[in-house]
Amino acid sequence: MGLFDLLSSDIGIDLGTANTLVFVRGIGIVLNEPSVVATEVSSGRILAVGAKAKEMIGRTPDQIRAVRPLKDGVIADFEITEKLLSDFIRRVIRHRYLMKPRVVVSVPSGITEVEKRAVRDSAENAGAREVYLLQEPMAAAIGVGLPVDRPSGIMIIDVGGGTSEIAVIALSGIVNNMSIRIAGDEMNEAILLFLKKNYNLLIGELTAEQIKIAIGSAYTMDREESLEIKGRDLIAGVPKTMKISSVQVREALSEPVDAIVEAVRQSLERTPPELSSDILDRGIVLTGGGALLRGLDKRLRQETNLPVNVADDPLTCVVRGTGRVLENLAMYNKVLIKSRRD
Ligand code: ADP
Ligand code: MG
Repeated sequence: MGLFDLLSSDIGIDLGTANTLVFVRGIGIVLNEPSVVATEVSSGRILAVGAKAKEMIGRTPDQIRAVRPLKDGVIADFEITEKLLSDFIRRVIRHRYLMKPRVVVSVPSGITEVEKRAVRDSAENAGAREVYLLQEPMAAAIGVGLPVDRPSGIMIIDVGGGTSEIAVIALSGIVNNMSIRIAGDEMNEAILLFLKKNYNLLIGELTAEQIKIAIGSAYTMDREESLEIKGRDLIAGVPKTMKISSVQVREALSEPVDAIVEAVRQSLERTPPELSSDILDRGIVLTGGGALLRGLDKRLRQETNLPVNVADDPLTCVVRGTGRVLENLAMYNKVLIKSRRD
């Protein structure tokens, strides 16, 4: 390996709706930050990108806006997505002294050609020598270590922030893929609405997420828990504290969870029978941050009668998948998306 190779370590990026992660070949995950950008409304100037920007959600004065440009799994704001991507890439390149790296970016499977081009252009503008795109469910499956090139079918369910993706993979391709815009964000929203409707308690998005992570579940728990939460009483207009139980939170989450279960059922119905029998043997693998919702695996097992396993470290499967692809670009050539530049 020459000096140039040493310095030109390649990078893999999971451009997620909630979190963006960056992997450097030979090193591992070097960046893991929320996909949030804070801008000044009047000038459009970027004030913060990543964790600092996420802290501003729900706390920003009128002049500051904290946005998630990929919130629904599609690029809602090109310019901001570009800023986000290039900020993260530049940080990694500068910090690691990388020169013109090759970059593999995993993108939501529903993105359009125009969006793909925007991702490619921003990575190039940020200093990438070559850019390869990889579909998210494929990246997740590779990250989990599943043999995606075999004829036998694999089902991956990735529950992220903005979208849940259900994909069946065989022979290095996605046989069928379903993407619904119901995932972690909708769960937060459901908790928020539940408290508002039943207790006249108003909480913020970030608090709702904390409740979900602390005591959220999709299946009866061996030991139900409770949590003290703070919000604003909608009637008295003052701050209020109340106790909420995991049973209540599960009730609040039932709608989004049911929707995910329903999507999995539909996806199974659309799967060719030969592949269904493979899935029956191998089971379903759950990835993405939503896979950490307690009992989601049990619930899916109960509803589908299939084995369901949560991947190790589900939040990092996709970026680890991009890392594996980098380490073996020739072998994974078939799974990369070639979007032509014109
Ligand atoms: P994306 O790929 O869309 O960026 P991620 O895979 O990073 O999404 O997952 C982010 C989502 O996972 C968020 O909605 C977050 O609230 C949720 N999440 C993270 N940890 C947990 C947990 N322990 N329980 C339930 N949901 C979780
Ligand atoms: Mg993801």
